[in-house]
Amino acid sequence: MAREDYEVVIGLEVHAELSTKTKIFCSCPTEFGGKPNTHCCPVCMAMPGALPVLNEKVVEYAVKAGLATNCEISMDSKNDRKNYFYPDLPKSYQISQFDKPLCERGYVEIETSEGKKKIGLTRIHIEEDAGKLNHDEYGRGSLVDLNRAGVPLIEIVSEPDMRSVEEADVYLKKLKSILEYIEVSDCKMQEGSLRADVNVSIRKKGQKEYGTRTEMKNMNSFRSITRAIEYEIERQIEVVENGGKIDQETLRWDEVSGKTFSMRDKEDAQDYRYFPEPDLVAIKLSKEYIDNIRKNLPELPESRKERYIEEYKLTEKEARMITSSKYLSDFFEKGVEISNNPKAICNWLLSDVARILNEQEKEPDEIPFMPEDLAELVALIENGTISTKIAKDVLEKMFETKEKPNKIIKDNGWVQISDEGAIKEVVQKILDANPQSIIDYKNGKDKALGFLVGQAMKETKGKANPQMLNNMFKEAMK
Ligand code: ADP
Ligand code: ZN
Ligand code: MG
Repeated sequence: MAREDYEVVIGLEVHAELSTKTKIFCSCPTEFGGKPNTHCCPVCMAMPGALPVLNEKVVEYAVKAGLATNCEISMDSKNDRKNYFYPDLPKSYQISQFDKPLCERGYVEIETSEGKKKIGLTRIHIEEDAGKLNHDEYGRGSLVDLNRAGVPLIEIVSEPDMRSVEEADVYLKKLKSILEYIEVSDCKMQEGSLRADVNVSIRKKGQKEYGTRTEMKNMNSFRSITRAIEYEIERQIEVVENGGKIDQETLRWDEVSGKTFSMRDKEDAQDYRYFPEPDLVAIKLSKEYIDNIRKNLPELPESRKERYIEEYKLTEKEARMITSSKYLSDFFEKGVEISNNPKAICNWLLSDVARILNEQEKEPDEIPFMPEDLAELVALIENGTISTKIAKDVLEKMFETKEKPNKIIKDNGWVQISDEGAIKEVVQKILDANPQSIIDYKNGKDKALGFLVGQAMKETKGKANPQMLNNMFKEAMK
């Protein structure tokens, strides 16, 4: 059998750190970084007798996330202890939610090359993050940093609804953008604010039951997630094709070798001995509370997209690409506000800016200049100061030097030549050097004009105003 005879099944468990100011059960700051063990108190360090108090903002943010992903919000939910021993978990249990999560039965709509599709969400629950182990920096042994212990998380569990690498990739991007739009998480994958456990299985096409899944934990880049799923699909198919069976196991993805390795199998599966957290009261929400959050939900990517098509006359594709990132979308709106030229701002963002970001393997929020700088660039083209061709060079420099377009143009002597006398001089010089082109042009070969303009551009290092060149060549050859 071949690869086409198998169907891929993928389900994701996504952890997002919430951007509340303080931790979930104490008033320590959630801020990333900081010297080890400086954002801690007796509660998040698990001193005996210290008691947790639930941060109300955490509930609000989780409900926001639930509403934005079409979940039912539970009016009666609770916290549970998930017991396991690991040195980054000082209480030896994590406060999480087991049988009564805050949000259930939602979905996220995605759009791929195959069209639109709803990916089901099983649940969203709240829980606390663990600390961090620093392994290598201090010689032998590991040191524990509890700054992250107690940072609030939501875990978003999808149904095993994805059927391709593309669907998994698009789903995660969509989920990330929703969380960014509702401003509950900064979703910085490099900092671990957004990470996913990726579950993958295969089955023969037409088969009803799911195959046995493997799980890759704590993946935090889109690139490694797609690579890992691709590798894992190939590996599983090969095992089955050779008459073997897939073991239900937890795998580790190794970025360098591009392979997955077994971490632990089902035999080592932990019994978490869940039980209700006795130090916290149940979470009872009123209908008014939930309705109020629903009413104040910010604009989501979908409706922004529609608005851009209506208001700014972007194409469906342009609108989708701009709204795929909240940062890019905000950037676009800011730029339009200043320049009043939505098409130009959109074109720059989706073509040259996107290309440079892509080359540098960067995300939109790493654009090294401000919307007003792009608006300035667009204005400089509109008022004839620079040609579009020069503008591309200016943009490259904006990425390199982070200087303002005006300054870059001045420093490099790139101002467009629109002085009639100066242009006339260039036109004469080029005509003198190319008598054959004049004859060709007079014989009706329009190409000759293009050639002459090109020569003049070369002569002026792309600075001559092309419209003026065109007109003056025509005039001179009449
Ligand atoms: P656990 O929490 O122990 O990992 P769950 O039953 O909560 O187990 O499932 C976790 C994730 O695995 C869910 O996102 C689910 O969609 C996914 N999943 C379950 N079965 C499969 C399968 N056969 N293939 C791929 N993914 C699966
Ligand atoms: Zn604390
Ligand atoms: Mg899991």
